[in-house]
This record gives sequence, C-alpha cells and structure tokens, in this order.
Amino acid sequence: MIVGGIEAGGTKFVCLIGTDSGDVLAETRFPTRGPAETLADALAFLREHVSSLGPFAAIGIAAFGPLELRPGSLRFGHVLATPKPGWSYVDLVGPVRAALDVPVGIDTDVNGAAVAERRWGAAQGLDNVVYFTIGTGIGGGALVAGRPVHGLVHPEMGHVTVPREPGDDFAGTCPFHGDCFEGMACGPAIAARWGAPAQDLDGEAATRAVAMEAGYVASGVRNAVYALAPQRVVIGGGVADLPGLIPQVRARLAATMNGYPGLDDQLADDFVVPAGLGSRAGPLGAIALGVAAATG
Ligand code: ZN
Repeated sequence: MIVGGIEAGGTKFVCLIGTDSGDVLAETRFPTRGPAETLADALAFLREHVSSLGPFAAIGIAAFGPLELRPGSLRFGHVLATPKPGWSYVDLVGPVRAALDVPVGIDTDVNGAAVAERRWGAAQGLDNVVYFTIGTGIGGGALVAGRPVHGLVHPEMGHVTVPREPGDDFAGTCPFHGDCFEGMACGPAIAARWGAPAQDLDGEAATRAVAMEAGYVASGVRNAVYALAPQRVVIGGGVADLPGLIPQVRARLAATMNGYPGLDDQLADDFVVPAGLGSRAGPLGAIALGVAAATG
C-alpha cells in the first residue's frame, strides 16, 4: 500500500510518500509560510509522485493544532484559533481531498506519532499508549483501546498543571497559563531559566537542569498515567535526548506516584521509554494516519 503524508509543523512541513510497512519512498521538507503557498508546495510534491509511485490509497495529515476533528463539524479538518499568523481557521483537509481525490486522515502531530509508535516503534502490540513530545513546546497524544483520543477537542496534555520543583521561581513561558507543564519544561523554558539551551549547558548547571526537567516531566507523565491508564508512555522531541533524562524521569515518576496504585508495570524500565522512531515519529505519524485512513 502506498500512502502520502504531510507533517504540518509550525516551523516546517515534511511531505512524504510511504508504505504500510513504514518505508519512506520519497520525502521533502520546506519552511512553513502562509497557508496558501505552503499547502500549494505540499500538493505539488504529492501530485508529482502520483505518476511515479502512486496511486495513493490515502493521504495522512499530522498537524500542529489546535484542530477541529469532530466528524460532523463544518470545519472538520480546519486549524482552529492559533497565534500563528494567517493560519486560524485554515482548511487542511479540503484542498488535499480536492486535489487527489483519495481518503484523507488527519489528526494532531502527537496523536499521529502515537499511532506510528504503536504500528512501528516503541509501543507495538499495545492498545493504550501516551506519547509526549518535548521540544519547542510540549504536546501529548493518546491511544485508548487502539484509537486516538478525541472529545470536544483533542487532548492538550502539554498544558496540564504541574507542581513547582523546589527552589524554582521561574515564571514559565506559556502565553496562556504561565507555569503549566509546557511553560515550565519545554525547550525554550529550559533555555530561559538556565540562560542557555539545555544541550549547551555543562557541569553543575547541566546536572541541575536535567534533574529539574525530570521532575517536571515526571509530573506531566503522572497526570497522564492517572487520567488515561496507559500501558506505556513514549517520550520524543529534542529534549528527550538529554543524556540521563529518561532514567531520572522513571525514578521521579516512581517517587511521585508513591506506591499508588502499586502496579509493578508502572515502575518497570519499559513503562516510560524514548520514542522508538526517534525524530522520525512525527513524519511517520503522517504516514501512519494515511494507512489508518485507507484501512478504516
Ligand atoms: Zn499552557
């Protein structure tokens, strides 16, 4: 099966042609500009490959949010109100369907990554999975009973409340909430708090920054663990690569759960894991959403 994918990010678009085995046959990337020119570039790439690699069974779109994903909504597949200039209420699905006349699957980038991690990555064989990306922002996607979670809107697990780490008086970077999970623990929050991006810190500062980050990530994970009961939590994004972070998150999660409800599974080393697909979890999420759209 051949599907097309669009990972629509706030700073860049990645467009791919892939298979239901997760192989990528063609790929391009370009900066995100205004919606008209950016979507035109994406459609041009997909159309160009229909003749050589197609026909496509479906197209998957894994997009930055917020998104309207209620199936009956007139704005299904549109971006909702976003601070990103020009992108509020832009239709992502309509132009793709009109141009290629195939089923189009759309979800958040993090729900897409969760689907991809379940299909090809670190969550294979599991039906209940939470995926966090920790980078320029923090996003969380979730699968329950094998399906991405949507309600009134998709989950926004980057904006849950986390307790302040002892001695941390940083105000937080979230424009909406200040000191929410994203506001305290995304890459720009680390850089603002410590005066340099995490990967540029060394010595005592690096040790303290990673320890504090682990505390915030453990708190964010605990919220998801108690709310959604995942069988595994997968963590991707650039911050997840900080040396020593994931083992410290496991230790801090165990400490903050404090023995409740006392499941050994939640304390095991394979309960909180790095993304099996690494930095490819996002783009492969678009392919995975396309495969899901093609197969129902
Ligand atoms: Zn927030």
